[in-house]
Amino acid sequence: MAGVRLEGIVKAYGAVEVVHGIDLEVQEKEFVVLVGPSGCGKSTTLRMIAGLEEISAGHLTIDGRVMNRVAPKDRDVAMVFQNYALYPHLNVADNIAFGLRIRRESKERIASSVAEVAEILGLTPYLDRRPADLSGGQRQRVAMGRAIVRRPKVFLFDEPLSNLDAKLRTQMRAEIKRLHKRLGVTSIYVTHDQVEAMTLADRIVVMHDGRIEQIGAPMELFLNPANTFVASFLGSPPMNMVKARIASGDGAPSAEFNGQRLRLQPLPALGNAVGREVILGIRPEFVSIAEADQPDRVAIEVDLVETLGSEALIHASLMGQPFIIRTETVGQKRVLDGISGFTIAPHLVRVFDAKTGEALPGQELKQ
Ligand code: ADP
Ligand code: MG
Repeated sequence: MAGVRLEGIVKAYGAVEVVHGIDLEVQEKEFVVLVGPSGCGKSTTLRMIAGLEEISAGHLTIDGRVMNRVAPKDRDVAMVFQNYALYPHLNVADNIAFGLRIRRESKERIASSVAEVAEILGLTPYLDRRPADLSGGQRQRVAMGRAIVRRPKVFLFDEPLSNLDAKLRTQMRAEIKRLHKRLGVTSIYVTHDQVEAMTLADRIVVMHDGRIEQIGAPMELFLNPANTFVASFLGSPPMNMVKARIASGDGAPSAEFNGQRLRLQPLPALGNAVGREVILGIRPEFVSIAEADQPDRVAIEVDLVETLGSEALIHASLMGQPFIIRTETVGQKRVLDGISGFTIAPHLVRVFDAKTGEALPGQELKQ
């Protein structure tokens, strides 16, 4: 059972606490991604799991064993970094074999392990090359080879793709996913890139200022963000946020902003809430473009249309606040610049408390 458990994990540098008590249970074979803005404590958390940083408080368990005081080399984890730091004077085969040599494994064992790992990573034709003669993607694969060859219980990745160009990053992302399917090793992956998080993770852990904001499957977080932070962090473009007040309605609740109205789904918290300040979260892909004479439409002013091929982003403003709509271009008969409003189904509007930023209870979107 090579699961990883963090209980109340704290990191302090002197008097400054940067990770404030993290609880997380990673199941065996699970691929968990820690995502959050730069400086939120992702690397620090990962390095505490690897044993490269001391744990200030709390318990770390790997495979059922408390690891707080266990040396990095005895934790049976392997880490892949953004800076892959290969040995420049060694060829690919020797770079991959390095860790096994240190552990004094037999020559035959090393040769067969290196051959197997090279095959898995598509590095067999390059075993004699030095790192300088490899592409960025190939180098990153060698770095992964060094981790895989040790057959660790847990893989730790710290932004392994950040140094690659966009195209290669997409390609390597798919390779990492395939590799995980094939090897099934418990993995914890750190990135600031929400697309990587959405595509790779079984579960995403959203971090902010040394705390966990929300944990869940990618679509669960996308559809049901617990607060405005998660809502605006996941998704590209991010969720539109509109400040509004709950209005007195004719039975069904609605929200009002600058004279405009939007129907909301009935929620217990909206029962007696007229005048309450809320933030409406509206995903760019959940709105429908409205005809000019549609009565329930929300008016916007379009200022720019970006056509990306099969889809377009309509950059508009809603009472002076930026508002983005994402729409298909294929089969689109309208002139996108001429759009003057949208509609949205009430259950697709996510309602957050304006003060706390927390989603009001009772909203549950299913995939
Ligand atoms: P992330 O990986 O999410 O970008 P880090 O885990 O590297 O963030 O850093 C989290 C916080 O801890 C940051 O505010 C950073 O400045 C601080 N920090 C990291 N290392 C040290 C250190 N050695 N001494 C003091 N503060 C540090
Ligand atoms: Mg980092």
